[in-house]
Amino acid sequence: MHKKIAIFPGSFDPFTRGHEDIVLRGRLLFDEVVIGIGHNSQKQRYCPISLMIEQINEVFKPYDNVRVETFVGLTAVFAQKIGANYLLRGLRNTTDFEYENSIAQANRHVNKELDTVFLITSPQFAYISSSLIRDIHKYGKDVTEYLPYELPAYEDLMNM
Ligand code: ADP
Repeated sequence: MHKKIAIFPGSFDPFTRGHEDIVLRGRLLFDEVVIGIGHNSQKQRYCPISLMIEQINEVFKPYDNVRVETFVGLTAVFAQKIGANYLLRGLRNTTDFEYENSIAQANRHVNKELDTVFLITSPQFAYISSSLIRDIHKYGKDVTEYLPYELPAYEDLMNM
């Protein structure tokens, strides 16, 4: 039997407790979960990729079937490259559903072997989004309850 590998792609800017929840549940369904940080040189990030890799590695240190990688270009092509036949995504609400529905069709178009699997967000994380956290953090407010690690202060982050 082939190993069941799932790619969990995203910007993870930053990686949140909502993301962590999807990975922890996903690792019980698949042999391996690869967190793929999509890298777009045109798009300015809030949290440097190197910092996210470091923190994600630390969070999932106890689990040997979770790892993190970065990629550029199409998710469906990256999935093929790492031998992933499943694409894992989280669904928070109907807005997510509308968006995810079309992405899943497009990914399937690019890579026929790729099936998207959705996990419904745990209710306590349903309102968490990376953009919300960026907004709160930028103004110096505490975001520790949304993250499974410590984020440096805004000024330090901008100097990284
Ligand atoms: P993208 O830029 O591709 O939307 P994100 O980093 O925002 O990437 O999210 C990656 C995945 O995690 C998406 O499937 C998204 O729906 C899911 N996600 C985001 N926030 C949460 C949350 N609070 N709970 C569960 N899943 C979430």
